[in-house]
Amino acid sequence: MPELPEVETVRRGLVPVMEGAVFAHVEARRPDLRFPLPSGFADRLRGQRVDSLARRGKYLIASLSSGECLVMHLGMSGRFTIEDAAPSRPGAFARARDCDPKHDHVAFSMDGPRPALVTYNDPRRFGFMDLVAAGDLDNCRHFKGMGPEPLGNGFSPAALEMALKGRAAPIKAALLDQAVVAGLGNIYVCEALFRAGISPRRKAASVAGKRSDRLYREIIAVLTEAIAAGGSSLKDFAAADGALGYFQHGFDVYGREGEPCRRCGAPVRRLVQSGRSTFFCSACQR
Ligand code: ZN
Repeated sequence: MPELPEVETVRRGLVPVMEGAVFAHVEARRPDLRFPLPSGFADRLRGQRVDSLARRGKYLIASLSSGECLVMHLGMSGRFTIEDAAPSRPGAFARARDCDPKHDHVAFSMDGPRPALVTYNDPRRFGFMDLVAAGDLDNCRHFKGMGPEPLGNGFSPAALEMALKGRAAPIKAALLDQAVVAGLGNIYVCEALFRAGISPRRKAASVAGKRSDRLYREIIAVLTEAIAAGGSSLKDFAAADGALGYFQHGFDVYGREGEPCRRCGAPVRRLVQSGRSTFFCSACQR
């Protein structure tokens, strides 16, 4: 499931073909993804220019010349594929892909400096797209109440400590709450807690002072490293199949149940919290 670093990597991959480009043709091959596509979806996009492609939490936001924003979420399995329009054969799209075309649900023909077909493929269809007036963005159902961007100016050790104050939930659950901080999911919460030496079962309110400072630093570090890894893999996987957004990281604890902790050698443990697997080292995390 894509989290902030993967969505940021997708954004960086799409910028060269979407920013400054116009939707020449839009094909919605079904009326819904996780939710119905907005009414008049293709007509509201066609002819519009993408002024900027931004990210908020795990969402992509294309600001359009019409004054609307195209809000996109990858859900569990969504991916974008870029196929460059072959210059020698106008309208033909080169390059084979590894995604099953029966899950290609939305296709954008982008007319810009680098003409391309951008296809949204999503086998499980938990992703979605919406159109929201730019002025309504902050208060729309997707972003209302969302916490600060972890890599933005609104996030700080003090802001984290304040957001955790009075919360009786375990720190693991609190960090998954998008109102505390935007964009974190199961993987990077497990990794940040391990690196900060904080038990996932610790009461959120008790993560304060030096502990919340340490956690803040490790959240920033783990996301920054993952974005850097995504950036360096971007060229490779775009070249391989044109699909953006999924790459392997070397995780410290995530998915490593029973394997030795990289710090102390004790086996990494797994426990289920709020229906999600938590991976941690009970010796290193207190
Ligand atoms: Zn350990």
